Amino acid sequence: MEEFNLLETVRKQICTCSLDLRLTPNVEALLKMPMRELHVSLPVRMDDGTIRAFQGFRIQYNNARGPTKGGIRFHPDETANTIRGLAAIMTWKCALHDLPLGGAKGGVVCNPKNMSPGELERLSRAYIQAICHHIGPGIDIPAPDVYTSETVMAWMLDEYAAITGRTEFGVITGKPISLGGSGGREDATARGGWIAIREAGRHLGLPIGSDTAEGLTVAVQGFGNVGFHAARLARELGKCTVVAVSDSRGGIHQPEGLDPADVLRHKQRTGSVVGYPGAAAVSNEELLQLPVDILIPAALENVITAANAHAIRARVLAEFANGPTTREAEEYLEQNGIHIIPDFLCNGGGVIVSYFEMVQNYNMDHWPIEEVYRRLDEKMINAYDRVHTFAATHGVPMRQAAYTLAVGRVVKAMERRGWV
Ligand code: NAD
Repeated sequence: MEEFNLLETVRKQICTCSLDLRLTPNVEALLKMPMRELHVSLPVRMDDGTIRAFQGFRIQYNNARGPTKGGIRFHPDETANTIRGLAAIMTWKCALHDLPLGGAKGGVVCNPKNMSPGELERLSRAYIQAICHHIGPGIDIPAPDVYTSETVMAWMLDEYAAITGRTEFGVITGKPISLGGSGGREDATARGGWIAIREAGRHLGLPIGSDTAEGLTVAVQGFGNVGFHAARLARELGKCTVVAVSDSRGGIHQPEGLDPADVLRHKQRTGSVVGYPGAAAVSNEELLQLPVDILIPAALENVITAANAHAIRARVLAEFANGPTTREAEEYLEQNGIHIIPDFLCNGGGVIVSYFEMVQNYNMDHWPIEEVYRRLDEKMINAYDRVHTFAATHGVPMRQAAYTLAVGRVVKAMERRGWV
């Protein structure tokens, strides 16, 4: 298997747009390094009375365009290089969607599946105790990501308030609605992704969202926050047929179509989508290779690689997850005419609505859900159109177009600040 390092992937991508942007070696070097890294050790009392020290990170990649923003992951395989790479992707994502924010990411090496709610709460609070002086509404604003939830965000908000003596809703996003959260945040990433797929469909002649879309098939890898809503909205917004879904334990395939809400009930009862009545079992690897119209990786990075790219048979690869496709795999897929909607374009809905949440918090306001959807639609269409037009005009892949536009905006802000 090719060795995977998300930061290296991001760095190579910067090199490919460096020529177009005429970046000097100094600027390029600056863009390839995070501006600030916090590595922390988090002592947590476990239920059996022992103390365990968990390793945590908060990496603030670039704040030229504004305070940094990005999610927090709780995952056993977390590494500093993955968090660095994800923080860089957040920087380009905020720039591409024209949000006045930079990029960051956080993570804790832990396995939440083996921890009690009490242990998770103490870990969440310990994380905020360790980083609280380096985050804040004008500094860095965390949010949920893999294996963190609105409950975790609520604990973190509360811990920040306990330490600072101020309840500042704008310090964290993805909060429960009763604690300053925004309507529409829960499914924002998936909703934004489906807006991007709809726009791609317009150019590719796929009737997404129309009555004839039922013949279009969708497979979704990952059935968490993003993956479940991706499958649900495939039917509701896309009017497509969801033929396969999976989670960390495996997948299910039903060519006649699955009802995602019912699959979720099964997962809530049993802990996994696996064993859903009437569906055939597939592995995560087999799911990626199904002959579907739209393939949605919505789990982790590095799942479509040189080893399996030749077996991908989808027409559209919509990257709801961050970093699911390696560069080698992407080259192969591009050559074979598979339309890739790159991660930081496709999954920008999450941070867009997080930004809306911050705006509402600053104004002590609460927007109706229709307002959130209207603004999300506008932002996603705008970004998709810009990337698509650039790619078509310059004859470059969608990801390179997205990088050139986003990195160009970050560099512009660095220049105006007098950094370069
Ligand atoms: P989540 O924790 O809610 O769900 C993760 C899902 O992936 C779970 O269903 C889990 O079972 C599955 N999974 C884990 N390991 C797997 C494996 N090896 N094979 C297949 N499935 C596996 O996380 P999420 O918030 O839905 O995030 C999913 C992806 O979307 C991540 O790449 C994340 O960075 C990205 N993303 C999330 C948001 C957001 O708003 N939550 C925004 C943008 C991007």
